[in-house]
Amino acid sequence: MQTIPIGKSKLQSSRLAYGCWRVAGSWNPEEVTPEREAAGRQAILAAYEAGYTLFDHADIYCMGAAERIFGQVLKQVSGMRKQVLIASKCGIRKKGDPSPAAPYRYDFSADYIIRSCEGSLKRLGIETLDLYQLHRPDYLCDPEEVAEAFSKLKKAGKVREFGVSNFRPSQLTLLQQACPMRLIVNQVQISLARLQCLEDGTLDQCLGERITPLAWSPLGGGQLADVMPIDLRSNDHAQRIGLREEMERLARERGSSRTILALAWLLKHPAGIVPIVGSVNPERIKESARAADFTLSREEWYSLFEAARHERLP
Ligand code: NAP
Repeated sequence: MQTIPIGKSKLQSSRLAYGCWRVAGSWNPEEVTPEREAAGRQAILAAYEAGYTLFDHADIYCMGAAERIFGQVLKQVSGMRKQVLIASKCGIRKKGDPSPAAPYRYDFSADYIIRSCEGSLKRLGIETLDLYQLHRPDYLCDPEEVAEAFSKLKKAGKVREFGVSNFRPSQLTLLQQACPMRLIVNQVQISLARLQCLEDGTLDQCLGERITPLAWSPLGGGQLADVMPIDLRSNDHAQRIGLREEMERLARERGSSRTILALAWLLKHPAGIVPIVGSVNPERIKESARAADFTLSREEWYSLFEAARHERLP
């Protein structure tokens, strides 16, 4: 697969990344059976063989089970560690962690960031994360404290590069001012089903400061892909039908699929968006990789954009 530099760093990633959120098959670690683990390993292997080299994790993906399954694959496949970039995230704490009365919350305290990173390294069975991201902005974030935690992790050789996720431009700027190292990614929800980052300055900041936007749910969690039904009860079903029709028309014209169009639409943006593919189906993982070689014209990009907006451009 074609590659792209991540931010202003030396990291070079495949044009599409693979997301490990769904590889354990559940949010609940108690539901992870040996069969589900085997299917997760198979999905990760399919992504590796299809040329994905950036793998995205978070400590909370099935409460660590996703990272553990990925660690099993790393052990199984000789030489894989050197060929891939491993990213993880921290900062979300589930209800009941660590005591039953504790609420769901965000936690960017230095102690938690460091502890969480060490937990991820252990489950993955590696010494160093290539990229470590803060998962969602903590309302109580003290930028100086985060900078201190990041510096400690870097100095200890536990993390190569840092980034954020779901940050507004102002939040990223504020944290960057405190951090001695560059923040190289903002992992955000962006797709034809979610256009906000095109309008709120997120992609402008990424382009201007050469921060790589990693796009989560690039198929809108599946709603843009080929066999997902439109939910007629959803408020925006008319909009979704309009978009689907335009995607189908263009897919026929180009001899392609809605999945490829949705990914290629992200790849066309000059900010260098890296879509994070989330399927656990080996065939779909392979098919999605083909988007890296598929180019939309400016006219095609706008026809999809207009259909997604469900409104003519001014
Ligand atoms: P997505 O690619 O938008 O959605 C994947 C879902 O779509 C899967 O359930 C998949 O089912 C389904 N799908 C894909 N192609 C399909 C097709 N042709 N027909 C039917 N269903 C299809 O991405 P995502 O999984 O929501 O997110 C991707 C990654 O983003 C995650 O793994 C994670 O790394 C990251 N993420 C980050 C955040 C954050 O806050 N930073 C939040 C969410 C996710 P199958 O598996 O059956 O193909």
